[in-house]
Amino acid sequence: MKVIAIYPGTFDPITNGHLDIISRASKLYDEVIVAVAVNRGKTPLFSLDERVDLVRLVTPEFSNVRVIGFDNLLVDCAKKQGANVILRGLRAVSDFEYEFQLAGMNRRLAPQLETMFLTPAEQYEFISSTMIREIAMLKGDVSCFVPQTVHQRLIEKFK
Ligand code: ADP
Repeated sequence: MKVIAIYPGTFDPITNGHLDIISRASKLYDEVIVAVAVNRGKTPLFSLDERVDLVRLVTPEFSNVRVIGFDNLLVDCAKKQGANVILRGLRAVSDFEYEFQLAGMNRRLAPQLETMFLTPAEQYEFISSTMIREIAMLKGDVSCFVPQTVHQRLIEKFK
């Protein structure tokens, strides 16, 4: 059986932590679909198109990774894409409660989908898109937390 993982998130913007998870996943699964959520609940810094674009730009070396945008229910998007695994990244204990709840809800909605978690290398554990945006907004240097292209785009955003 082909194992297709869908890795959903806001990716506002994609960080080295996300990339570490994508890289690990690309070795484990036949295909990895990075699914960038519109996220109407939050007001993202980058538009959906910009976020999808950035993920595509920084993942060219992964031949089995595909990037899509979505604005419907995750389990419906996963089914449409033929995914059998929902992949999430776990940074610290603080992520656990929310992720545990999310996995439980998604299992109720779609019992055939398994949620799997990967942890990043320890140097990426503390990286969050929220903090990257805040530091960049205050003109701090985020070059060691995000790929070069993302760094450039952040500088342009806050010019
Ligand atoms: P969401 O808006 O759904 O929280 P994010 O874009 O923040 O989405 O993150 C998508 C997924 O990647 C989540 O599972 C999140 O826990 C995980 N993630 C975010 N940052 C990191 C990181 N530095 N290392 C590993 N996983 C991460």
